[in-house]
Amino acid sequence: TMSTLPTTQRALQISEHGGPEVLQFNEVGVPQPSAGKIIVKVDWAGVNYIDNYQRSGLYPNKAGWPLTLGQEAAGTIVALPPSSPDDAAYKERDFQVGQNVAVYSAGAYTEYFSAPWQRVFPLPTGVDTKTAAAFTLQGLTVTSQIHESYEVKKGDTVLVHAAAGGLGLIYCQLLSTRGVRVIGTTSTKEKAALAKSLGAAEVLLYAGPEKEDIEARVLELTNGEGVHAVFDGVGKDTWELDFKVIRRLGTIVFVGNASGPVPPFPVLRLSEKNVKICRPTLVNSVADPVAAKRYADSLWSSITSGALKAKIHEEYPFSAEGLRKAHEDIAGRGTTGKLILKVA
Ligand code: NDP
Repeated sequence: TMSTLPTTQRALQISEHGGPEVLQFNEVGVPQPSAGKIIVKVDWAGVNYIDNYQRSGLYPNKAGWPLTLGQEAAGTIVALPPSSPDDAAYKERDFQVGQNVAVYSAGAYTEYFSAPWQRVFPLPTGVDTKTAAAFTLQGLTVTSQIHESYEVKKGDTVLVHAAAGGLGLIYCQLLSTRGVRVIGTTSTKEKAALAKSLGAAEVLLYAGPEKEDIEARVLELTNGEGVHAVFDGVGKDTWELDFKVIRRLGTIVFVGNASGPVPPFPVLRLSEKNVKICRPTLVNSVADPVAAKRYADSLWSSITSGALKAKIHEEYPFSAEGLRKAHEDIAGRGTTGKLILKVA
């Protein structure tokens, strides 16, 4: 049950932490079929902000050098595990050679990607590999967080920072279709207009020449009560604000560190309004393959129903220069929506 694989391929790797200059396009071996792993011939890979943390060393490399970057890809299955894992969740996915799949796993920037079957999700008709690469990691993140970190309810008002980013536009779309009122933040008027066109009820400028008083504006928009939840991928620059705009019994979900990590703070601070704080990462939300499939199915149905539309900022070439440009663009704050690499 496998096609003939070549012996070598290219991969985007780093051999040390540093700036975009440390990215290398290396020739590496092609993985062989192995227990529990599925090999996917990659069409598209998604670029995520986490790449910057891994390259810079904010998230230290525990996997050894050289490190292949990339967290998600989509393409076609070319090999299954030599023997079928004896697991109901494996059988339920009904993997087939030739099938289009999305993968959320480390080491995606490669032509033949070997990943644990638990992290491989067959695509339904109506979700092509390009769309899947634009949505897998960020879509699974939003789908799981709006259930696990804070179960959003119709009628809630929720603050989403960096609302025009990859993650942000998915929050805008999935929350608004659930009847949640989204207040977004962003740095430019153009980004604000985009987030509004994809579901945000209000978008406030937290940076730039027309910077607003976000605390005053959010309180004004919520009758002085504050929001039910905050989804914050910005971190350092916004975390203090979150405590001011959260309502009593609200939930602050720290999802990332685009401006730098949130510093330690006293737990006693939570008692000011009986606030809950979460700091989730997708790895733990998809650790159970049954739950992971449920999140993936929910994501695919949001796409096929038209509730979730891809906003692709740019397709970058599969090369060191291509990924360097993508990293500079996303960290330089000039992007909206999703960045993807065209691998095949
Ligand atoms: P984005 O496309 O959202 O890009 C980052 C955005 O952050 C920028 O466009 C910018 O938007 C905003 N930003 C605010 N301050 C800064 C700054 N100082 N430097 C650069 N950007 C800044 O990226 P992603 O969608 O990939 O990720 C968003 C966040 O969510 C990241 O922190 C990421 O790590 C996190 N994340 C976490 C996951 C998890 O499992 N916990 C999974 C996926 C993402 P603006 O100009 O509007 O301010």
